[in-house]
Amino acid sequence: MASQTTGQGRQRAVVIGSGFGGLAAAVRLQARGHDVTLVEKRDKPGGRAYVYERDGFVFDGGPTVITAPWMIRELFELAGRDPDDYLHLVPLDPFYRIFFSDGGRFDYRGDSERMAAQIREMNPGDADGYLEFVRRTERIFAKGFGELADRPFLHPLDMLKILPDMVRLQSYRTVHGFVSRFVSDPRLRQVLSFHPLLVGGNPFQTTSIYTLIHFLEREWGVWFARGGTGAIVEALVRLFGELGGTLHLNADVERITVEGGRATGVRLRDGTTLPADVVVSNADVAYTYQNLLPELTRRTYTDARLARMRYSMSLVVIYFGTDRLYRSHGLAHHNIILGPRYGPLLHDIFTRKVLADDFSLYLHMPTLTDPGLAPPGCESFYVLSPVPHLDSGVDWQRQAGPYRDRIMAALEERFLPDLSHHIVVEHMIDPRHFRDTLNSYRGSAFSFEPILTQSAYFRPHNRSEELPNLYFVGAGTHPGAGLPGVLSSAKIAEKLICAEPAEQPGAQRRGRPPVAPLHRQEARHEA
Ligand SMILES: Cc1cc2nc3c(=O)[nH]c(=O)nc-3n(C[C@H](O)[C@H](O)[C@H](O)COP(=O)(O)OP(=O)(O)OC[C@H]3O[C@@H](n4cnc5c(N)ncnc54)[C@H](O)[C@@H]3O)c2cc1C
Repeated sequence: MASQTTGQGRQRAVVIGSGFGGLAAAVRLQARGHDVTLVEKRDKPGGRAYVYERDGFVFDGGPTVITAPWMIRELFELAGRDPDDYLHLVPLDPFYRIFFSDGGRFDYRGDSERMAAQIREMNPGDADGYLEFVRRTERIFAKGFGELADRPFLHPLDMLKILPDMVRLQSYRTVHGFVSRFVSDPRLRQVLSFHPLLVGGNPFQTTSIYTLIHFLEREWGVWFARGGTGAIVEALVRLFGELGGTLHLNADVERITVEGGRATGVRLRDGTTLPADVVVSNADVAYTYQNLLPELTRRTYTDARLARMRYSMSLVVIYFGTDRLYRSHGLAHHNIILGPRYGPLLHDIFTRKVLADDFSLYLHMPTLTDPGLAPPGCESFYVLSPVPHLDSGVDWQRQAGPYRDRIMAALEERFLPDLSHHIVVEHMIDPRHFRDTLNSYRGSAFSFEPILTQSAYFRPHNRSEELPNLYFVGAGTHPGAGLPGVLSSAKIAEKLICAEPAEQPGAQRRGRPPVAPLHRQEARHEA
């Protein structure tokens, strides 16, 4: 292993939670020569990327859209390993097939010319606007991702330094507002603005900085890991073990122990104590403060402040396997099925917090790319519907069944004929899962909502204000949710823990982005 500790020498680190943020932090610290113990309350690692397996069907529980593949590959490379010995990533084309409620559809892909051609067919006047939108997102990406995503924002000055750039890039606009300046067709506005939903944001309220996702996908593609996202989790767990790290499953942390103003380790619910020089929490930030550090005098994240903050929506996800194939039914690997209302539905979910009668869905059909995820002659799917978090007061005990039936009926009617007669396995989660199993405040699926006033310096920092050796990684800290975000948070935590001189926010970066665009070379084309 070609790695070394820096700064403090070899330290004992405990990482709480094995989501992608926790796993990446554990790998990074172990590869640096620290002595890392990763503790996870569930019976399997992965957090939101937990894998459900039933009768030969394999369902990724959460993330399926893999972007910024180099961020995954670099975890192996920094440990002196070849990522190709651990995982196989497959590029997808189209990235998404988007179905409109009027029966039309749009194949969203990385090739701007093909995108513009489809746009010309829908609304000729919008093609030039789209190409200008792409040019603008390149600048936003260069700043928002290339320069800011893997820096800590610990001090107000860090924020002040980037303010002029944010104003220049019109970060005060929302994603939908920004997109609307370039295209006028309401369907195209949906196509170009849905991305914040992938990280828990309402396109009508999320800062336009998040249009960088459009450029990120366009340049580096949308990928799928053979074997599913769970195969990436497995690969990281294997790497961590090979580096000498220790993973404890079914290990529920009850307390971060504190003495003399420092974290001294963790205590599990079964009474076991694990001493540590450094504690990294990948558990929900609000949960960590309220439940793992209850005796701490909290100056920043008080209960009142946590209650005032805004949380992302929650989700209903139904995982189901069929005993027949649906390969020739016009679906792609990633499908977005838009309902009749866009803005008003999002308003119901994020602001009014009511469970609407209508919905927009994401339908995952991984067996189109990897038939091995279901028994022969079968398909595995998941369908996801954004719903309000638990402040809605919805009685999920009562509502979950009827809501599920409405979604499945809609799929059966338009996409999956005779579905109700062919489901052989099924599992469903709703906001209670996020609260009770994943310890997420208010059952939010993506932690704090990614609005301007909860971003960068204004998001919980990667190092605690109270305890200098307590760090945060994952969706609730900077830069935010989604795999690229939580992998960046682990990189920041590593820099802080290993006491590397952090590059200043706003400083010009050399040689970013790190890898050449890949997806165009070998994209797999779907019918
Ligand atoms: C259904 C769904 C689909 C998504 N799709 C995508 C996608 O396609 N692409 C994308 O990039 N992102 C996607 N996301 C977002 C992405 O999955 C998350 O932002 C990311 O995985 C969160 O990682 P994390 O590091 O914050 O940890 P989490 O996954 O939140 O894991 C935290 C871990 O901490 C553990 N834990 C909590 N409390 C304790 C305790 N007291 N003791 C021990 N362990 C504890 C939990 O059990 C959990 O395993 C999706 C999310 C969901 C829910």
